[in-house]
Amino acid sequence: MNQIVEILKFYKEIGAEFLERRTTEKTDSMTEITRDIMSCTRCPLHKTKKNYVPGEGCLTPPIMFIGEGPGETEDNFGRPFIGNAGQTLDKVIEKMGYTRETVFIGNIVKCRPPANRDPLKEEVDMCLPFLIRQIKLLKPKVIVCLGKVAMNNLLGANFSIKEKRGIQMEFNGIPVIPTYHPSYILHQQTKEAISKAKWEMWDDMQKVLAIVNPK
Ligand code: URA
Repeated sequence: MNQIVEILKFYKEIGAEFLERRTTEKTDSMTEITRDIMSCTRCPLHKTKKNYVPGEGCLTPPIMFIGEGPGETEDNFGRPFIGNAGQTLDKVIEKMGYTRETVFIGNIVKCRPPANRDPLKEEVDMCLPFLIRQIKLLKPKVIVCLGKVAMNNLLGANFSIKEKRGIQMEFNGIPVIPTYHPSYILHQQTKEAISKAKWEMWDDMQKVLAIVNPK
């Protein structure tokens, strides 16, 4: 008898919680966010893009990497960071002990800006709400902003990446570590400059790892 009472109590609680969730808090889902991105016409970038690039990865990621916007390869395939910069990012992620599937990779804008120019303020204003919904849903332990455009547009700031890389900031209560965009490493002209940029980025990633795995 006692057991039946307990079971009934359990189902009553679950039912109440379920009802409350359904009525008071409309939960967003990645499917809904992606569907909204894929039908977006809020800014002119949707007219020139080939594919929307909503972002991809784990839905409970410890780390969320944010770039500025899709390049040519990403536009062709609808996936973030799969070109040259993406290969560098993959190496960094793997060296950190993760894979593309165990983190989330997204961008400030979900459509390629023509000729890879920086996204305009109007474009960012229209697109940022999608990223904010993604962050709210994913609740990463830490966000890594890849480059100045990602950092400044997420934080609404105008910082230099050289000054702020590796310094912990915050977005809606989530720690943010800015670092170089992987293409910055690729654009260095000398072996020494490449090595310096790589080590600096690796140094920044130690800060990220310290947040994910506190001692
Ligand atoms: N650069 C970015 O900022 N994002 C991508 O997805 C690819 C390259």
